[in-house]
Amino acid sequence: MVGGGKVAARKVAMLKRAGGQVTVVSPAACEEIQARARQGEINYLERGYQEADMDGMALVIAATDDANLNRSVAQQANGAGIPVNVVDSLEDCSFIVPSIIDRSPVQVAVSTGGASPVLARLLKARLESSLPAAYGRLANLVDEYRQAVKDRIADAKQRRTFWEHVLQGRVAELLFAGHENKARSALQDAIDNPDPEIGARGEVYLVGAGPGDPDLITFRALRLMQQADVVVYDRLVSEPVLDMVRRDAELIYAGKQRDQHTLTQESINQLLVRLAKEGKRVLRLKGGDPFIFGRGGEEIETLAEEGIPFQVVPGITAAAGCASYAGIPLTHRDYAQSCVFVTGHLKDGSVDLDWEKLAKPAQTIVFYMGLHSIPILSRELIAHGLPADTPAALVQQGTTRNQRVFVESLGSLPDLVEREEIRPPTIIIVGQVVSLQEKLSWFGMKDTAATAVAPPSGE
Ligand code: SAH
Repeated sequence: MVGGGKVAARKVAMLKRAGGQVTVVSPAACEEIQARARQGEINYLERGYQEADMDGMALVIAATDDANLNRSVAQQANGAGIPVNVVDSLEDCSFIVPSIIDRSPVQVAVSTGGASPVLARLLKARLESSLPAAYGRLANLVDEYRQAVKDRIADAKQRRTFWEHVLQGRVAELLFAGHENKARSALQDAIDNPDPEIGARGEVYLVGAGPGDPDLITFRALRLMQQADVVVYDRLVSEPVLDMVRRDAELIYAGKQRDQHTLTQESINQLLVRLAKEGKRVLRLKGGDPFIFGRGGEEIETLAEEGIPFQVVPGITAAAGCASYAGIPLTHRDYAQSCVFVTGHLKDGSVDLDWEKLAKPAQTIVFYMGLHSIPILSRELIAHGLPADTPAALVQQGTTRNQRVFVESLGSLPDLVEREEIRPPTIIIVGQVVSLQEKLSWFGMKDTAATAVAPPSGE
């Protein structure tokens, strides 16, 4: 350690915690370093740095307030092939020191590659609060029993499932609650009587991935994403969400584009059954919510008929996600007492909807899959009594960084689609609530290309 100030003292403390043998060289040193020297914890050379000090060192850290000195220490260390870290000078470092969350033997490191130490610290604080202190003890317990489990459960996949159950089940809970002995005997129990079902039987998780922003998935979705063997996903599942799936899970694209289904619904249903029967944990990942225009019901119907266990995890549906991120409350005491979700998907070129019921005052209408039917939607709603100047919004790729929001009126929607080259996925929101968008929009404001809002009619 070249330098003896407060920063050096912090690094020395870190090196000592990691079991390092530390030599500090500096003409002056702060009280903390002097105290360590007095207690024989470190070797303190009370003088200026000399190149020979580097001999025999495994790591060098330069933490003086003299940038030139720091740099020449770095150059000499590099020349000698010794890893070197220069405090606050990324370009001189051959290694960086991440923030550590220490649950030894479990360690989590947070690094921003030197870009923002403050961000690293904030992340560390978050992780500190969400990782139970007993993780270290849990890891030690597992370590103690690893061989016994290996002897007992020969199949690697079943063993992994066994440990996943242990680490997320009663054993872990007992340990976190401070019952170390009970945790140990529960684990012994599980080893003596491994559930014959564990791992031998596949299951299916039908999971809603939300509209795009990965922050909008649920804790349960995340947990299942990280333990699935196979993931069958749709086009609507965003890239950042897919990135959260367990690294070695197999990914199967099931497609679904308008009029261009990559796999037919029936073959998706059969695929899920087949994978589960192979003993896999299958994650069926769908955009938004699986039960809202997602055909999730059909998929699990087949599973139910085959007696395959499944669970359903709700997701934030596009209407809710897009409306929130666009700043459009779907209901509002002054503007809308009801809200309907409808599909605008055309079957043989016609939209089979109850226009009478939709074209009501004080109601918000959200169209899914309606982009290609906009001329019809607009015409029919007006023909059935909604004023042409009823505010209407298009939200394209809502909740993602590419979100585009356009606010105009029911009558001008067809033009808007042409003019702005709107692409799917896009949701259409019609109703007086849309007029609040200008005031309430908050997300990605700079990119929001809101055009003039038509005044509410009849007021
Ligand atoms: N189960 C999904 C809906 C599937 S239908 C859910 O609950 O959200 C597909 C339609 O959803 C698209 O045509 C589009 O209208 C809408 N949609 C899905 N994600 C969207 C997004 N990020 N932005 C805008 N519309 C979206």
